[in-house]
Formats: sequence, C-alpha cells, structure tokens
Amino acid sequence: MKITVLTLFPDMVAQALHTSIVGRAMDAGILEIRTVDIRDYAENKHNSVDDYPYGGGAGMVMQAGPVVRAVRAAKTELPAGTRVVYTSPQGSVFTQETAKRLASEESLIILCGHYEGIDERALELTVDEEISIGDYVLTGGELPAMVMIDAVARLLPGVLHNDTSAETESHQESLLEYPQYSRPREFEGLEVPEVLLSGDHAKVDAWRREQSLLRTREKRPDLLEKAELTEKEKKFLANTPGE
Ligand code: SAM
Repeated sequence: MKITVLTLFPDMVAQALHTSIVGRAMDAGILEIRTVDIRDYAENKHNSVDDYPYGGGAGMVMQAGPVVRAVRAAKTELPAGTRVVYTSPQGSVFTQETAKRLASEESLIILCGHYEGIDERALELTVDEEISIGDYVLTGGELPAMVMIDAVARLLPGVLHNDTSAETESHQESLLEYPQYSRPREFEGLEVPEVLLSGDHAKVDAWRREQSLLRTREKRPDLLEKAELTEKEKKFLANTPGE
C-alpha cells in the first residue's frame, strides 16, 4: 500500500513512522510512505503557506493554492482514484471499521491541517473524506495521520508476525480482547488462570471468548450492543452476573 502524507512538518511524520511495526512494514515493502512538505508548493519567496482569515478572527489559515497544488502533484504519483483524506476534528470519527476500509485501498493521500485549518475551497476541490481521531482539537493533523497509518498498517497482510493476531484484537467484531498473561506464572500473589496452562486449545479458545464477552460488557457495554452473538453466548452472559 502506498500512503502519501501532505504536511507542514514532514520530519515529524517520517521519523515517527520509521519505528516498530510500521517501520518493519516499510522495510518489508508492504507499505510505502512518502511525506510531502506543503511548503514546497508555496509560490512566494518566503515559502509562506498561511494567511489571515477573511472576516477576522484568531489565528491563521492554510491557503488553498499550496494545498491544492500539493494534492494534485501527489495524485500524479499514485494510481488513479486514490482517495484524499483530510484529518479534521470535524470529520467522522476513526474506528477499527474505518481502519479496515482504508487498509483495503491500494493507495491513500492524507492531508494534515495546521493553524486554524485549511481554506475551505481547497477541501472542496481535493478532499474525498474528512476523518477525526476523536472529539478534541489537536494542533495539527500529523498525530492523527500517524494514528491512522499505524492502525491501517497492522491490518495489511504480512505486517503482523501472526496474521490471526489482528483478528482477535479489541474492536474486531465489536468486542474487546480477552486478558493476556505471560511469564512468570505467579506475580505478587496473582496466578495465571489455570486453563491457560492446560494445553487444551479448545478450552483456551472457549475461555478467551467468554472473557472477551465479559470484559466488553464490563468496560464497553455500548460495543456489546453491536456485537453479533450466538444464542449460546447470549445465554452465557445472561447467566453470568456482572461485577
Ligand atoms: N479550527 C479548526 C476547527 O475548529 O475545526 C481546528 C483546527 S486544528 C487547531 C488544526 C488541524 O489539526 C486541523 O486542520 C486538522 O488537520 C488537525 N486536527 C485537530 N484535531 C483533530 C482531530 N481530532 N482529528 C483529526 N485531525 C485533527
């Protein structure tokens, strides 16, 4: 998958993405990330890309010209039809479903705003979709872009060591993941649940599924309402009182 990030802070994005799983995905050639400095598309000698808002008000606005030129140039390097996503607190909220949908794209352009945002005309002319990472306002779109890329990268085939790992993680099927344990077997008086030491994979799977249901009910009952449960699972929950 090819992702081009358009930003005023390309180093911030490039440095952070070269580590851990995303970095490995890039090294393996599964993911190609290019950062483009929107400032390179300024057409004035100071390379400035922002100006005062018409109508007055606080802060500066990223001008339409450099943004539109940067997006159009990025598009020429990517397959036709590449979606342009603008990171915005006004967009629809990013979820695991969004990550899955974006991971199925061959390529993507992520546009990061800064200051008070981007001139609306640039958004009208170039953006396909606005995505927010939550109902709060950040200084720029770089962290949201990195959040999205990280979530998308781990869904690309071959990125996680164990491909099934993404399938059981939280937010798949609207459930949270079961609790995880590693060595030692006992820590400060707390034991690893016996079933995990049994070597019986069917029992382990059944226990994990039950734990997943119970902790989703406990921590995120809103998710459980969306989960598709079997009759047996519904009965299990009904017969197991919450804490
Ligand atoms: N004035 C804008 C508003 O009230 O909608 C907020 C601008 S914000 C300070 C600057 C940039 O940060 C935005 O253009 C956007 O790219 C990014 N940003 C801020 N919060 C975000 C969020 N929750 N999700 C995604 N991007 C965000």
